Amino acid sequence: MIGLTGEVLEPGMPGYDAARKPAMARFHHIRPRAVVRCASTEDVVRTLDIARREGIHVVPRGGGHCFAGRSSTEGIVLDLSPLRSVSVSAGVATIGAGATLSDVYDELAPHGLTLPAGCGATVGIAGLTLGGGLGILGRRYGLTCDRLRAARVVLADGRVVDCAADREPELFWALRGAGGGQFGVVTSLVFDPVPAPDATRFELIWPRADAAAVVAAWQEWAPDAPDGLSANLKITATEVVAFGAMLGTESAVPLPPPATERMARMPYGELKRSLATLGSAEPAEPGPVVSKSEFFRRPLPARAIASLLASSGEDVELNFTPMGGAYNRVPARESAFVHRTERFLLEHAGLDAARVRRSWATVHPWGSGRVYPNFPDPDLTDWARAYHGDNHSRLARVKHAYDPRRLFRFPQSL
Ligand SMILES: Cc1cc2nc3c(=O)[nH]c(=O)nc-3n(C[C@H](O)[C@H](O)[C@H](O)COP(=O)(O)OP(=O)(O)OC[C@H]3O[C@@H](n4cnc5c(N)ncnc54)[C@H](O)[C@@H]3O)c2cc1C
Repeated sequence: MIGLTGEVLEPGMPGYDAARKPAMARFHHIRPRAVVRCASTEDVVRTLDIARREGIHVVPRGGGHCFAGRSSTEGIVLDLSPLRSVSVSAGVATIGAGATLSDVYDELAPHGLTLPAGCGATVGIAGLTLGGGLGILGRRYGLTCDRLRAARVVLADGRVVDCAADREPELFWALRGAGGGQFGVVTSLVFDPVPAPDATRFELIWPRADAAAVVAAWQEWAPDAPDGLSANLKITATEVVAFGAMLGTESAVPLPPPATERMARMPYGELKRSLATLGSAEPAEPGPVVSKSEFFRRPLPARAIASLLASSGEDVELNFTPMGGAYNRVPARESAFVHRTERFLLEHAGLDAARVRRSWATVHPWGSGRVYPNFPDPDLTDWARAYHGDNHSRLARVKHAYDPRRLFRFPQSL
């Protein structure tokens, strides 16, 4: 492709094979016609122009962690990873759409700043923000997308727009939480960062036999805990781990006494690095991890917990994430992210899709029917309601206004 500043990798070229594979092993078989390493907004404009004229499917890719493989295609992958600059000016952070979370944390740290965002070091800031963004500072500061102040977007027709609350407000509204890859290609994001706090990292471990008692206590406590306390719960084949951070002196953890307890006060950057491997199912090679999830507005009764633990067994890892706090103080219509009355999110992850589905189905009757757009689930039939609730019709209007010919599309896209 003529005139691009970035690299174009096509089948057979050195580097193509590494470049085509996203982080998630399940989608490593997909072979794009080309991977365009975009080094500028202009590269995105030119590539979209070719895709539009030649009718080629095109998808943006940041960190490549989409659970549903939406940043892979047999058409053109727009790899935004070269656009990873992070700068701070007048207290505002401008971040290239190809930056990963570790780029963001490392570059903001010297300014004493950070963003409330996830723990996975290689997750992309753009994908995470466009679908919401949950993390250990979220109960105090809200979603990553709640800190977004502006974004530069290349639209389907090639126009470049800077959107914010007072410029292209409907596009800006839709970018905050509906899920990436639907309205245009974001090339940079402007955030209102928060102070990077010192915090107490905690990790409490029980044998798996204690799981029912720990889940019962956790679900009554973690969603209502003080905003400065964020406690995730992970259940593996052998153990139960509650982990997270306390920002202040919130020290009372009303859970059964653990077998092992680790607590340490540390700078925020160190805390994030140390939690990176404890969060959502890291796609450890060669594991093609399958994940299903749902939000819950009420505690699970004891019999549901018992069935869940029996059906997840040794093959399905369970991750509980607390909501509440600042997440739930933003009105559901203020941004595209509609899930503002949920108590917790439960993710089921494993290598065996049938077992993951069974585990999910066991507690589905107690779920709210809503699903986090950043944990997309190809099985969902009523996906519009699950991801977007009452915001769906407004999102459909924004889609029609900005991408009427659906250049940006995937199964379950608007
Ligand atoms: C190991 C792991 C840890 C995780 N931890 C967390 C966590 O702590 N908190 C949390 O909230 N979520 C977490 N997630 C989920 C994560 O938020 C989503 O997978 C997210 O979509 C990943 O973004 P990405 O850029 O890495 O992925 P990609 O696959 O590159 O992108 C995801 C979607 O966004 C689109 N997209 C990417 N970049 C752009 C862009 N510049 N413009 C427009 N669309 C774009 C893609 O086309 C795709 O549809 C985790 C996932 C994994 C695998």
